[in-house]
Amino acid sequence: MSKETEIKRRVYLDHAAATPMDLRVKEAMDSYMTDEYGNAGGLYREGRRAKDGIDHARKSLARILSCRPDEVVFTSGGTEGDVLAIIGTARANKDRGSHIVTTTIEHQAVLESCEALEKEGFEVTYVDVEPNGVVDPKKIESALRDDTILVSVMYANNEIGTIQPIRNIAKILKDRKIIFHTDACQASEYLDLDVQKLGVDLLVLNGSKVYGPKGVGAVFVRNGTRVRPILFGGAQEGKRRAGTENVPGIVGLGRALEIADEMKVREGARLSELRDYLISRITKEIKRTILNGDAKERLPNNVNISILDIEGEATLLYLDNYGIACSTGSACTSESLDPSHVILALGKPYEHAHASIRFTLGRGTKKEDLDYLMEYLPGVVTTLRKISPITVEEDAKGMSHPEAFAGENMRVKANSKNYK
Ligand SMILES: *Cc1c(COP(=O)(O)O)cnc(C)c1O
Repeated sequence: MSKETEIKRRVYLDHAAATPMDLRVKEAMDSYMTDEYGNAGGLYREGRRAKDGIDHARKSLARILSCRPDEVVFTSGGTEGDVLAIIGTARANKDRGSHIVTTTIEHQAVLESCEALEKEGFEVTYVDVEPNGVVDPKKIESALRDDTILVSVMYANNEIGTIQPIRNIAKILKDRKIIFHTDACQASEYLDLDVQKLGVDLLVLNGSKVYGPKGVGAVFVRNGTRVRPILFGGAQEGKRRAGTENVPGIVGLGRALEIADEMKVREGARLSELRDYLISRITKEIKRTILNGDAKERLPNNVNISILDIEGEATLLYLDNYGIACSTGSACTSESLDPSHVILALGKPYEHAHASIRFTLGRGTKKEDLDYLMEYLPGVVTTLRKISPITVEEDAKGMSHPEAFAGENMRVKANSKNYK
């Protein structure tokens, strides 16, 4: 393997984990870190200036989401947004019922919030997705009960990029007065965020996936939706989120979403083409490779492929040495040895999940970057396959090593076909 010093270039292909901040966002934030340092709660000039910055961002979000400014609650990121949307809503609506419906491929922020609620006496149904990673709205419908208060389905998946039929699910829920939450952290760079068209009551986004700052996010809370705070100690954000506002972060999030909104259509088309180019090259030039997730109902920047017989982790480390950054699934699970719960939820065996590798493209990605990747990837795969002790069946389905899942770390046990 070549030494770090010999590397010709650096190719970053992990935009689903983090995006570089757009310089226009940084510029908008700068003065709020130094000159305009006031507490937005202050009634004097410094405070009013800070509050003006927040108000401007709130109006930008309201325009992009097609909602009222007071329906926007700023948070510390996507995680807090999901926790507030799920735990805050469930607790506030317990008088109406205690059943929640979600899917097996949600982000851990949603899954672990649901688990925490199960310990509080709520019941959660985890609906399976189809083998292509898209949830069937009919399956959501048949999971509903008289005491269902909340349904949570992500807009687009962070690992395999599948886009979920949010509008169709919203139609099913509309007349039943069931609150509908969607995690739009991955979708917000590419998809329409009009909450009226989507028909959702709660929508979560964050700054770090849209070329904005990390550690800031927002929740759209439809007027009339009861949400109990999860943080205590202040009346900020309409008494829904206590704590001094992250003024530079909020200003940056507003600017980042404005830019994403302007770029959406063109950048989506550009990246879709590059995505399909990379998928076609990998699956044609490397034998025994399988695309995870739907080929069409997919984010423009997501390529997730299982390269059979080798560990995704090993591929990732080799590629890093050649100057290429990618991931084996969600960044949140890359430090643990558990295989991706998302790939397993597709009905794929343990070995396919371990073999998965994710390339997520971004604004800086050019065709040459993908060609550079393809200069090295086939050789890396050949090298690793030579030393691999295993050969996996290409059309294998379901669990191959049930004993590997006995541990407490596997969270989506409920009614997923993989865990029976
Ligand atoms: C990144 C991400 C989150 C978590 O957002 P943070 O801002 O890191 O807390 C939640 N959901 C999805 C789909 C994400 O991609």
